[in-house]
Amino acid sequence: MRQNKGKLVVVSGPSGVGKGTLLKRVFQESGLPLTMSVSATTRLPRPGEIDGVHYHFLKPEEFEKKRLGNAFLECFEVFGKGVWYGTLRQRVEEGLAAGQWVVLEIDVKGAKAVKKQFSEAVLLFIEPKSIDVLKERLQGRGTETDEAMQRRLATALEELQHAGEFEYRIVNDRLDTAVAEFINVLQKSTAGR
Ligand code: 5GP
Repeated sequence: MRQNKGKLVVVSGPSGVGKGTLLKRVFQESGLPLTMSVSATTRLPRPGEIDGVHYHFLKPEEFEKKRLGNAFLECFEVFGKGVWYGTLRQRVEEGLAAGQWVVLEIDVKGAKAVKKQFSEAVLLFIEPKSIDVLKERLQGRGTETDEAMQRRLATALEELQHAGEFEYRIVNDRLDTAVAEFINVLQKSTAGR
């Protein structure tokens, strides 16, 4: 049997589609050496979010310094209005060198930027069953102001238009099915190497 080498797994999909829950199950059940890349962001932590675990929460000037220092594999202003998100290059490179499967949960623009640099990266797009389901989930989260919610929804609708550009698309309707499909994609990508 071939040895697993490090691999990049990029997961995109609109805000509220349930990527976090899905990934948690995939991490528990895949049996692969998956590790999450912790992104940096200039947004404020939500209640319960921990610096260094969910994100590296940076001040705009700290983020800018890193950006200019080429510390990001990719970085984008995701929701307009000056909120930045970026993948830290060092973390990814160390993970890959250690043979880990580094999982990036990033937006569509970021996913495309990564694919340009790592052509063998596996890109998955997670879709909701319908736009209505997505709206309900975004509203149910209740952590956002109305304005922020509207912006997220607009971004989500825009992101959905790019689903066709991804090699793998998974509809997160029944969680068990979505988990199984996700793991199947990862296993296929191992077999093909
Ligand atoms: P949230 O603020 O809800 O945690 O994340 C919002 C969006 O930012 C999500 O769609 C997520 O995929 C995206 N995102 C998180 N980290 C990064 C990153 O490092 N780079 C890019 N391009 N997008 C990110």
